[in-house]
Amino acid sequence: MNFTIVCRACGAKHEYERPLPTCPTCNKDWLDAEYELTHPQQPNAHLAQRGHEWLRQLDGRGASLWRYRELLPLKSNENIVTFGEGWTPLLKAHNLGLMLGHPNIYIKDERQGPTGSFKDRQAAIGISAMKEAGIKEAVVASTGNVAIAYSAYSARAGIKLWVFVTSSVPADKMREVALYGSEVIKVAGTYDEAKRVAAEFAASKNLFLDRGVKGIAAKEAMKTLAFEIAEQLGNIEAGQDMSVLNGSRWPWKVPDWYLQSVSGGLGPVGVMKGFAELKRLGLVSKLPKLACFQTSGCAPMARSFHKGLAVAENVKEPRTDISTLATGAPGEAYEVLRELILENGGTIDAITDVAAFNALHLVAKMDGISVEPATAVTFAGLFKLIREGKIQPHETVVINCSGHTFPVEKHIIGEHYTRDMTLPDTSELAKANRSREEGLLTALEELDSRVQRITIVEDNQDASRLIRRILQAQGDFHIDEAQDGQAGLRLIQETRPNLVILDLMMPELDGFGVVEAMKADPTLKDTPIIVITAKELTEDEKDRLDGQIKALLQKGSFMDSDLLNDIQKALP
Ligand SMILES: *Cc1c(COP(=O)(O)O)cnc(C)c1O
Ligand SMILES: [Zn+2]
Repeated sequence: MNFTIVCRACGAKHEYERPLPTCPTCNKDWLDAEYELTHPQQPNAHLAQRGHEWLRQLDGRGASLWRYRELLPLKSNENIVTFGEGWTPLLKAHNLGLMLGHPNIYIKDERQGPTGSFKDRQAAIGISAMKEAGIKEAVVASTGNVAIAYSAYSARAGIKLWVFVTSSVPADKMREVALYGSEVIKVAGTYDEAKRVAAEFAASKNLFLDRGVKGIAAKEAMKTLAFEIAEQLGNIEAGQDMSVLNGSRWPWKVPDWYLQSVSGGLGPVGVMKGFAELKRLGLVSKLPKLACFQTSGCAPMARSFHKGLAVAENVKEPRTDISTLATGAPGEAYEVLRELILENGGTIDAITDVAAFNALHLVAKMDGISVEPATAVTFAGLFKLIREGKIQPHETVVINCSGHTFPVEKHIIGEHYTRDMTLPDTSELAKANRSREEGLLTALEELDSRVQRITIVEDNQDASRLIRRILQAQGDFHIDEAQDGQAGLRLIQETRPNLVILDLMMPELDGFGVVEAMKADPTLKDTPIIVITAKELTEDEKDRLDGQIKALLQKGSFMDSDLLNDIQKALP
């Protein structure tokens, strides 16, 4: 579809020829692309008609962001520079959802981009637009991931890239940038200073400067996230496997919430533009509520939002270990995001680095997803909004899982995460008159030092799996499971566990019955019991359990650390 350039400050419209540094009318620098969403031959045709026509065009197209080609800002397909980015999976967070009691949490897995973050979308469109404009050399400032993505794509496009980063960007990330052949300039200062130096360098050398959120390409790239989310949610709700493209037969769907950690705020600005275009095309009926998260050490947007400021107060000296999110001067992006939130609902909140690191470990342990700290900020934000009751249990939430772990694991799991195994020395074995196999068996025995035994009695298989997963990830327990009270009691009598985790509502013998039977058995009466229940207990039921159990946890409202704390307290 045709598009024109629109200036946010003066509203002037200009024909798109090539990426512009500023508005030719007023010289301000925030520019947007506006598409001709109506039908050129039938300007009065209903918009929804145009939308559904477009859906039919998507039929049979491949699984990349280029399937939305009509709404992307390139003139010719010949200039597309691609690694097949986009159409990342939308995954249900099964275990996290169970733990939190929120069944509709989805993870948009942007770690699966070619360089491991959602900046691959930006690079694909940004570098393609540069190639189309005949640009051979360009300058970009980055908190890390843009540098990596742009470097890979510009290598493919034959563009020389000058990358300005701060010294707080992890060395492993900088090395990857250099690997792709970019010039890496490390600025000893804040990210905002690095941005300024990059702009001055570009001006002095007369080189093309990537303008991030203010330019066209970056926002247009991020809006493909909205298209994919709406299309995939539609597929999932229709019972389709979201990885199979069925030619968009299903109604598209907008989630109740879109969550993302922000630095410059490009992601949500672009994503909300995408949802707004779908709404104008008549393909969806609303925009999602928007929750953005920053780290407390660099939270100009969160602080300004809670103060009710229309213009952001900058943070001059960011103090955070999460360098990806270290933009202290968000500029107009804050104003755009604030307007979007006031209109559609949502918030901008701050999260401590510690809360983010805890969330990082939890998401990896519970759902097998290893993210970088900037992404963990979003998960910590999810936990916060759920705790505060802002996100309701029935609501559909999509989390931008924006980037892969990279070199941070060492800060989270320390140095002593392996179990060391020494293989038996043959001369020692001969002296002890034992075979190599015997020696190996002893060494293997020593590997597994689990001594405590825990029995889970729970008829709901999902709940049982969740509890088992929490215990498995902690490492030190033998776990036995039973699906009803009768079988559970037999198992407890046979295995004599150190602790019992018990559900109340079960067939055959319920949890109350199991407690009473254990208390009546002199050999089991001191075995600690933790009850996990789905129902609110009546006063009478509470009385029956009073003094008999060590802890009571409500299903869907405890974190793994709550359960582990209770277990630690209960074990002798
Ligand atoms: C860039 C980035 C962010 C912040 O995104 P913006 O929308 O630019 O503020 C968050 N997480 C990761 C992994 C990133 O690379
Ligand atoms: Zn203007």
